[in-house]
Amino acid sequence: MLTNAVYPPHAVPPGEASVALGRMAMELSAYKSALEASANAMVITRAVAPHFIIEYVNPAFERITGYTAAEVVGRNCNFLQGDDRNQAGIDEIRLALREQRAGNAVLRNYRKDGTLFWNHLFVAPVRSADGVLSHFVASQYDITEARQREAQLLHLAHHDELTGLPNRALLRDRLLHAIAAARRNGSRIWIAFVSLDRFKAINDSFGHGGGDKFLKVIAARLHGDIRGGDTAARWGSDEFAILMPEQNEDQLANAALERIMAVVNTAIRYEGQEVVLTCSIGVAGYPDDGLDVDSLLERADIAAFHAKNEGGNRFHFHTPGMNQKALARLRAEADLRLALQRDEFVLHYQPQLDLATGRIIGMEALVRWQHPERGLLGPLEFIGLAEETGLIVPIGNWVLRTACVQNRQWQHEGLRHIRVAVNLSARQFVLGDLAELVAAILSEIGLSPGDLELELTESLVMNDVERGIGVLGALKQLGVRIAVDDFGTGYSSLAYLRRLPIDVLKIDRSFVSDIGSGDGDAIVAAIIALAHTLKLKVVAEGVETVEQLDYLRVNQCDEMQGYYFSKAVCADAFAELSPCVRLLVGCVF
Ligand code: C2E
Ligand code: CA
Ligand code: CA
Repeated sequence: MLTNAVYPPHAVPPGEASVALGRMAMELSAYKSALEASANAMVITRAVAPHFIIEYVNPAFERITGYTAAEVVGRNCNFLQGDDRNQAGIDEIRLALREQRAGNAVLRNYRKDGTLFWNHLFVAPVRSADGVLSHFVASQYDITEARQREAQLLHLAHHDELTGLPNRALLRDRLLHAIAAARRNGSRIWIAFVSLDRFKAINDSFGHGGGDKFLKVIAARLHGDIRGGDTAARWGSDEFAILMPEQNEDQLANAALERIMAVVNTAIRYEGQEVVLTCSIGVAGYPDDGLDVDSLLERADIAAFHAKNEGGNRFHFHTPGMNQKALARLRAEADLRLALQRDEFVLHYQPQLDLATGRIIGMEALVRWQHPERGLLGPLEFIGLAEETGLIVPIGNWVLRTACVQNRQWQHEGLRHIRVAVNLSARQFVLGDLAELVAAILSEIGLSPGDLELELTESLVMNDVERGIGVLGALKQLGVRIAVDDFGTGYSSLAYLRRLPIDVLKIDRSFVSDIGSGDGDAIVAAIIALAHTLKLKVVAEGVETVEQLDYLRVNQCDEMQGYYFSKAVCADAFAELSPCVRLLVGCVF
């Protein structure tokens, strides 16, 4: 059939018939050889519905499908699909045959040994010179490998490379489907966030390779432990999420969560050591805690954060009280804690000048936070939270030490000795061993006590006057200068003020800015007079104008600091500033 079917006879001019026939025979044999040599499977069928029986298959067909020509000639091609008949591609090919036109489709075909191969099938009608359809020719492309590569890529896009677990994208997708199903069936879904505790320590001790090994072990265990319909996914670096759909119980059995904890808690052997990990788990449930993917995930995350914040190694169900605000606070607190570890705080220094000579005689150390995302933050953005959480104590100690080290270093570099003033918070003050701590830092660094000033607010001391007197007395004995900050804004009792072992009153900025407004003048003058009566020095802070400066000098204020001369600047800038010993303009000394 090959002769007629594939290449219909050419029209041959009379008289040349025998030559033409000879040439045709040669051409046909060439075409046949080409078919036989083709790497693609070729099939020629009769164009007779409904069976379209096979008349010819080439060797590539035999190789790819495992069927010999003898086994398939005379049959309909559909044995290649086996029972897998429900394929859109089959309809397309059928339609092409019925309409006697070319067509193509990708089909799932099966080799003789039953294995699947993806077949991109092209069919085309074969007509004689007078247009009569006699056959169809089909070429088959085995695209199985390309399909597998596609599937691999798809797998990669939905799975975590390290652990092989579903990634965030796939988890979200499954959660979306689970929600749709739960809505229809009235069932529940639980989503559990599993965050490993202190995983940074593992990375620090065993390196990232070691850390990865631990993550893989945990991932494999979680995956092995879940029920059939559940999904264990990798959510973040040391976070996993477990989706438990189609739950009918009202409450997720605590047992399930305890099992997850136990899975994580089981010791892992690594480099001859037994390491036990713990985790914090947060759980949110559909429909009680949220009706959509984002709110459920967010609430599970919030609950996990609570579990972590309470020390870890526990699980927490989300409750309505755990809101966004609480979470923001918890995150800020965790950030602040990290800031200390990552050394993100910096000190800026604001010069303090002697009003009689115009010389820089001191500086106030003011803390800033070089936040990795939010940039340089002033203390008003984080000191409050640091106070509430108690983090002000380690932060304050860092400030104290850093300011002393910096001051000593400048002295070593040959800069004139000046005093550095450090702000103390109430929390540092009530700890009890403040004087010992200050003494230890000074002697360790080799800074003379006279080069340090500590600033405290009135209310801090007045809270417990007797204790205050004791602590301040011990500090003063060391030789450290003591200043009362923001003076005039608290509720000092004059009787107590007299008894306190202090050296300096710092007039609050609000009074200084009132200078020139009548009453304001009187208050500043009164504070200066009061301080001098008590034999205290007076520092005016927040001096911004030459009028304020003049007024303070005329009223014998001792020292000043403020934007008029300089704002607080970084250490390098301060070092450049300090050789300059006089106020630049507006005032004659
Ligand atoms: P403070 O102790 O009263 O510090 C003076 C504040 O006024 C500083 O703000 C300073 O930059 C600002 N200032 C100085 N001169 C002028 C001026 O002429 N005009 C105006 N408008 N402002 C001026 P900063 O650095 O934002 O500090 C704010 C507060 O944060 C400080 O008030 C202090 O209470 C607290 N703080 C700063 N560093 C520390 C620290 O290391 N420990 C503790 N516990 N608190 C700190
Ligand atoms: Ca201060
Ligand atoms: Ca102040």
